[in-house]
Amino acid sequence: MLIIDCHGHYTTAPAPHQEFREEQLAWAASPTGAAPKPSLISDDQIRESIEGAQLKLQRERGADVTIFSPRASAMAHHEGNEQVSRDWSRACNDLIHRVVGLYPQNFVGVCQLPQFPGVPVQNSIAELERCINELGFIGCNLNPDPSGGHWTAPPLTDKHWYPFYEKMVELDVPAMIHVSGSCNACFHATGAHYINADTTAFMQFIQGNLFKDFPTLRFIIPHGGGAVPYHWGRYRGLADMLKKPNLREHVMKNVFFDTCVYHQPGIDLLARVIDVDNILFGSEMVGAVRGIDPETGFHFDDTKRYIDTLAMDAASKHKIFELNARRVFPRLDAILKGQGR
Ligand SMILES: [Zn+2]
Repeated sequence: MLIIDCHGHYTTAPAPHQEFREEQLAWAASPTGAAPKPSLISDDQIRESIEGAQLKLQRERGADVTIFSPRASAMAHHEGNEQVSRDWSRACNDLIHRVVGLYPQNFVGVCQLPQFPGVPVQNSIAELERCINELGFIGCNLNPDPSGGHWTAPPLTDKHWYPFYEKMVELDVPAMIHVSGSCNACFHATGAHYINADTTAFMQFIQGNLFKDFPTLRFIIPHGGGAVPYHWGRYRGLADMLKKPNLREHVMKNVFFDTCVYHQPGIDLLARVIDVDNILFGSEMVGAVRGIDPETGFHFDDTKRYIDTLAMDAASKHKIFELNARRVFPRLDAILKGQGR
């Protein structure tokens, strides 16, 4: 059995990458001359940034492959302007591509999109196509709120998003619904904004009929589905009140939750409430919560440990660790098969 971590970010990118970002934002504030170009980063700098962090933890914790995307909180679609967002996304995705090139057995790429508040999402299609067709990526992170906590974009079920979904379906790639940093002081980025967005996206799917229009469209809602599994009765009841089909038919053929829930009782609940076919192993390391849980002595984000402990048969765990990811990401399955795995 392969252990596939569906949720990892390049949170340890070499410092020159962040310096480029700062130059970009300075340029956007008073744009004189040409836009800054991405910093030069050597293969050794990339190796150094990965080997002591994501790769080390992957090995220590017993995962085989990580679905790897740019640092989510740094996407910051609300900063700069559309061109800055496009150049930044390109630079971030190119770095992921280089990581995958150096460690093809350990990482596969998922892209950041050059979204910007108020800009049509079809402007992100070209970068999606570049990443899938030219860089060999297998999916994307779609930000439902490019405004960074002010929710100025229409709901995910709105026609606004349809051109992008058509391209996702054509390329047969899923999206992880993933917000970025928060510029709203009410919402802590990883503690509130992320979990709000996960929950919000799910409720939008209940209210709409998106998957009637796109029966093969697939989304991963990270962080264990936000508050959804814990409040599953509420959402089933709301679907009923809104005269929608039951959630299994209405939403759960197309929506998957990861296991980025950082304690055992949370994972126990997730596995008890949500069908095993809808759960993908994920850790989001090195990410939002980096410390050691004093109650267990292990890292909060060492999520494999919780699944190992789950009272669940081996065939079901195999689905969570490997088979569901291969099904949701067909291009991952093809890459792994090409490697004889
Ligand atoms: Zn994440």
